[in-house]
Amino acid sequence: MDLENTLLTWLPIVFFGIVILLLLYTLRFMPRAKPAPVVRGSQVDVSWDDVAGLDEAKEELVEVVEFLRDRKRFEKLGARVPRGILLHGPPGTGKTLVAKAVASASGANFYSQSASSFVEMFAGLGAARIRKLFEEARKHAPSIVFIDELDAVGTARIGGGFHREHDQTLNQLLVELDGFNARDEVVVMAASNRLQDLDPALLRPGRFDRQVLVAAPDVAGREAILRVHTRDKPLASDVDLGVIARQTAGLTGADLANLCNEAAIFAGRTSAQHIRQHDFDSAMDRIVAGLQQRRVVSEKEKRILAYHEAGHAVMSHLVGDLFPAQKATIVSRGQALGYTLNTSTEDRYMHTREEFVDLMKVFLAGRAAEEIVFGRITNGAANDLERVTAIARSMVFEYGMSDVAPSRTMRADNYALSEETKRLRDSAQARLTDHAYEESKRLLQKHRAALDRVASALLEKETLDRSELQALLADTVPESHSSETVGTVRALPMRD
Ligand code: ADP
Ligand code: MG
Ligand code: ZN
Repeated sequence: MDLENTLLTWLPIVFFGIVILLLLYTLRFMPRAKPAPVVRGSQVDVSWDDVAGLDEAKEELVEVVEFLRDRKRFEKLGARVPRGILLHGPPGTGKTLVAKAVASASGANFYSQSASSFVEMFAGLGAARIRKLFEEARKHAPSIVFIDELDAVGTARIGGGFHREHDQTLNQLLVELDGFNARDEVVVMAASNRLQDLDPALLRPGRFDRQVLVAAPDVAGREAILRVHTRDKPLASDVDLGVIARQTAGLTGADLANLCNEAAIFAGRTSAQHIRQHDFDSAMDRIVAGLQQRRVVSEKEKRILAYHEAGHAVMSHLVGDLFPAQKATIVSRGQALGYTLNTSTEDRYMHTREEFVDLMKVFLAGRAAEEIVFGRITNGAANDLERVTAIARSMVFEYGMSDVAPSRTMRADNYALSEETKRLRDSAQARLTDHAYEESKRLLQKHRAALDRVASALLEKETLDRSELQALLADTVPESHSSETVGTVRALPMRD
């Protein structure tokens, strides 16, 4: 055999051999759908005692814990216990912490994964991981599947982009959520900072249909959190956690935990036996410098916020509680500053003209209060103004509720309108808004004492619930001209 022949025989064989080896080598390093790590709930090192404040969230989750501990009790009563619970709220408020506390209190197997670990380069792998995760959880029931940072897979698809992997992963999650039957002892929890961006499909009944707010702490909550995080730290007698709580409006639980740790480090540097107030002050300076967007709300800002929110609350009382204020708060919740008005814009066609004006007055009262008390207004009312504009627009353009003859303003087709008609419409809208604003100011001036009362209570406690508001306004007689209201009342969170 000559050399040429030998090469011709062997070369292809060697070549294929190398290719096959290479292939095996890459396959070895291909990620696979690994089983999710499981932790027995009883081994989770977080208990309810580590979670401070958040009483409402705790209350809502107690029944989940009971269900996991003793399903039969609920079955006998024919109760349907929520399976999909979404914890939502700003970052650092304790969502992950709460999920762990639930796991530990229930003793169930705890399958915890961050949603970002489902997002894979290889199409279909994220979906496979989810399938595996739920398979394991079902096999080892009772169990809790916790998907942290749900936003990573759950945000609504924006634009026309083709995100195949993302979609497959989300779809698999939906399939798993729908796949439960009544006998499964699996509870699914998830956490998200961005409820409003989540794909609505996730929030449908039978899926994450129980949403639990894990809110930023108010002053009492902050004090409780400080207490938890100084439990095992020796404090000097000059440290007053109540005072520190007051100085830290705007900080979350994670920030406060960090603050306590920094204070201990400062104290350690001077080899002191105790952590002194001075150490907390130094820690605060450092932490505040480190927070870029979220900063501590200054006393002045707090006062403005308090009067703004008090304005809304007093006005909703003054217009006869047609749109009752459930809660007023100056604790920031994500971007939304706090105030909750109970009303429904969906049933607005069933309201009278006066009721619309009243509603505008309530929305404008935040700005009006700022103007009355501080002589100027801040940009904090932008969202209020948007809402008022929308109401006034509908009144003029859709319902013919303005001072201009409906026949002249209520044409649906914008293009067919003459310039003059457009001007007429715009000025009718402006007159409605201006009138509501003037009325709002006049009423608040007249009831300045009530406004001051609610504002100081807000400065003091930061959140006021319905009964506290009612107590503060018990002697303030409403000035309503609104008649009967029709339609159901639904909760509508107001943004600022
Ligand atoms: P989230 O998941 O909402 O972003 P985490 O649960 O990760 O927040 O909170 C981070 C840390 O901050 C916790 O481990 C805990 O030390 C502290 N923390 C946050 N909220 C609270 C709270 N309500 N009570 C006690 N500690 C808290
Ligand atoms: Mg978290
Ligand atoms: Zn407002």
